[in-house]
Amino acid sequence: MLTSNIEHQTSNLKRQYDVVILGAGHNGLVAATYLGRAGLSVLLLEKNDYIGGATTSQKVFPDYEARLSRYSYLVSLFPEKIIRDLGLDLKLRRRATGSFTPYVKNGRHDGLLLSNVSEEQSRRSIVDLTGNDTEHEQMKKFYNLSRVFAEHCWDSMLEPLVAKEEFKRRFELDDISREAWRSLAEEPLGSAIERYLQNDLVRGLVLTDAKIGIFTHPHDPSLVQNRCFLYHLIGNKTGEWKVPVGGMGAVARELEQAARKSGAEILTNVDLADVDLSGKKRGLNFKLDGKKQTVDAQFLLVNFGRNVLAKYVNRPYQPDATDEGSVFKINMLLRRLPKLKATRYAAAEAFCGTFHSDEGYEQMNASYGEASKGQLPDRTPCEVYCHTLTDDSILAPDLREKGFHTMTLFGLDTPWSLFSRDNKSMRKLAEQKFLASMNQWLEEPLEACLAVAKNGDLCVESKSPVDIEDALGMYHGNIFQDAPTWPFAAAKEQAGTWGVETEFENVFLCGSSAQRGGAVSGIPGHNAAMKVMEEIRKMSTGPSRTAKLPTPNVEARS
Ligand SMILES: Cc1cc2nc3c(=O)[nH]c(=O)nc-3n(C[C@H](O)[C@H](O)[C@H](O)COP(=O)(O)OP(=O)(O)OC[C@H]3O[C@@H](n4cnc5c(N)ncnc54)[C@H](O)[C@@H]3O)c2cc1C
Repeated sequence: MLTSNIEHQTSNLKRQYDVVILGAGHNGLVAATYLGRAGLSVLLLEKNDYIGGATTSQKVFPDYEARLSRYSYLVSLFPEKIIRDLGLDLKLRRRATGSFTPYVKNGRHDGLLLSNVSEEQSRRSIVDLTGNDTEHEQMKKFYNLSRVFAEHCWDSMLEPLVAKEEFKRRFELDDISREAWRSLAEEPLGSAIERYLQNDLVRGLVLTDAKIGIFTHPHDPSLVQNRCFLYHLIGNKTGEWKVPVGGMGAVARELEQAARKSGAEILTNVDLADVDLSGKKRGLNFKLDGKKQTVDAQFLLVNFGRNVLAKYVNRPYQPDATDEGSVFKINMLLRRLPKLKATRYAAAEAFCGTFHSDEGYEQMNASYGEASKGQLPDRTPCEVYCHTLTDDSILAPDLREKGFHTMTLFGLDTPWSLFSRDNKSMRKLAEQKFLASMNQWLEEPLEACLAVAKNGDLCVESKSPVDIEDALGMYHGNIFQDAPTWPFAAAKEQAGTWGVETEFENVFLCGSSAQRGGAVSGIPGHNAAMKVMEEIRKMSTGPSRTAKLPTPNVEARS
């Protein structure tokens, strides 16, 4: 990490910046790099002692040299264009297995394996589960809808928002496009899942992408499940989720370097006291190592969520019910991979993709119902993946040699409200339940395979939505800061905007809270930077040339 000491941090601090960015998550870093390169003075203020927000990798278990992606772990939505524009050296690696779902059939343990490299292997696996080819054919037709959707929508993510009606017209080309629009943007996703697919396990597999991180069900009238599903399927038009080589922290590090190279200054351990939006400039007061500091900004970019911003500007935050976070993350370090009860698959084959447990369609309807009543579900749906099977560079050589692996569990139907009263006890209970969910498929319990710290503790770390909010400020632990949004202007007045605007002059969102914000994408960072440059261009050509700002020239470079 390039974080420097406090003295060094403040030695160059100016009284005034063209742009101040609140938070140094990956989106803040993307915005900083575009704007720094355009010749603007940029300062980022970060509360944590590390940079990257939810994209951080950390040595979670101090006795072992293993850098785990502590929060986010896979990349799909980071546009090639941003990588090219910023000259980033990001290595993303394909996982040989897309997903593995264990099941018991006629008393025998087996698994549905969907390969990323062999369609024939996936087809055979679906036939083994269902007895014929129909479900495989139907699944292909279903996923073709999201592929078509992605074709119509992906390139617009880095452009101003298009009005819903105009966006819809793009789908009026042919029957499949019309069906894609209807199934994914108009009716609750559950209808299409039930229309196309019959097998409960296959339906469940599809539904997980609509539930990751949020609290919803297939027929949710808010359609938040559709928006979440689209986010998981449109990335770079393929929707494939890849492993960042070096862990997610490598993405953050690369962006940090790019931001610093562009001239941006980054302060960590910042205790932001207040944000004054009353005057012409935006004033920021904060403490660094107990010392008060004040800076003014021509433009203020907000990388943290609207909930945190509301606190600083003394406005009530009015969340929607769909903003509730619902994820339980477990980080583990293993001495060895556990063997599977489904003996025809090697553990390495199953765990290198997304391993689904208790994620049948009806099972998730039940777990959603239980969690809605304030109970931890009887059977907790979760998915697990092992980073080191695709990229072992996050482990020290001696750990690699000994056969160590990192493992990440992502739990569903665990809304913030379940943890808000007694986080510590509920976290322990949830951890036990999720591990038990996994253990039903294993020859030996996961606990027996975990590395052990010098003090005898097992190398397992759990994060509830309450912990995630505490660490990063994400509203109620929502991994996207708040509910995922549509890729088009949901309200007429939004058409033509960048989806980053706020009610305050020259204050823009540059994080996941922006429209088209969620996930590791850099998209809102890019869009906020474009908005700033648009404003500067207007100022330099308008009647009152008040701002002494350089004319941005990023577009020429990109
Ligand atoms: C457990 C988990 C798993 C995930 N898995 C994936 C995944 O595999 N793939 C994927 O694409 N997405 C995933 N996501 C979502 C993705 O990580 C986030 O949407 C994205 O990283 C958010 O980036 P950001 O820059 O918008 O905001 P953030 O990363 O939230 O950055 C905001 C920054 O603001 C800082 N901040 C907050 N409050 C203050 C304050 N008062 N003063 C100063 N600074 C402050 C925070 O510390 C943080 O650094 C996951 C998220 C979580 C939590």
